[in-house]
Amino acid sequence: MTTKLLEVSKLSVKAADKQILQGIDLTIQSGETVAILGPNGAGKSTLARAIMGLDALRCSGKVLFEAKDITKLSVDTRARKGLFLSYQSPVEIPGLPLNEVLRAANDARKKKMRLTDFQLKMSEILEELNLSPFVGTRELNVGFSGGEKKKLEIAQMMMLEPKLAMLDEIDSGLDIDAATKMSQSLRNYQKRTNIAYMIITHNMRILQKLKVDRVYVIKSGKLSSTGTKKLLDEIQQNGFKNV
Ligand code: ADP
Ligand code: MG
Repeated sequence: MTTKLLEVSKLSVKAADKQILQGIDLTIQSGETVAILGPNGAGKSTLARAIMGLDALRCSGKVLFEAKDITKLSVDTRARKGLFLSYQSPVEIPGLPLNEVLRAANDARKKKMRLTDFQLKMSEILEELNLSPFVGTRELNVGFSGGEKKKLEIAQMMMLEPKLAMLDEIDSGLDIDAATKMSQSLRNYQKRTNIAYMIITHNMRILQKLKVDRVYVIKSGKLSSTGTKKLLDEIQQNGFKNV
């Protein structure tokens, strides 16, 4: 069953000297996959950050999540409600093992989990993503390849079980086979959990195993087209000039 999960209306974001996003309206239902495309610098990452509650002071407009106004809520509160944002460039945190990050995040959001249950869940997730069972003991993102960092973002998502995951260029740094595999893992996970995805991408391979419900194109901070799979095909053939 689908229910309205996220409703963004008239969202604008400005920086000191310019308007980065202007009047964005979009809706995502539970279990849907929405793709956000657009040229470099169009404002895609800014959109995801604004929905997550980062840079709130520079935003105007309204964001509803499960029909509640979350426009003024902190990032942390939004995360607890079930929003997740993967970063385009994950940060390295020396001294902090991945296991601990995940355990702390998990405990903060839900009922505490027994250590053995946590370990079991973690090992299932790492296996699903073709990551070594030992990555949990390594420092967060330190020394990981670009592709591994992206997989770790997805591991965190699967551990936290958000209702909406915004994945910002999650496929950059993945080779062709790894991108296909990740696309399949995302789809499998969605079937199990009814998670909604907002996927920001240039490389459409990450979409190939997903059932894309809607495509939004952002150009120069504005929504320039909305469509379905046909729009993806058009962009793949001719780029952004006609959309
Ligand atoms: P995209 O993800 O679509 O490539 P971004 O959302 O990262 O684009 O950026 C959109 C535009 O806003 C770019 O021109 C970028 O340089 C600018 N921008 C982003 N953040 C800031 C900021 N904090 N201050 C000024 N300009 C910014
Ligand atoms: Mg970006």
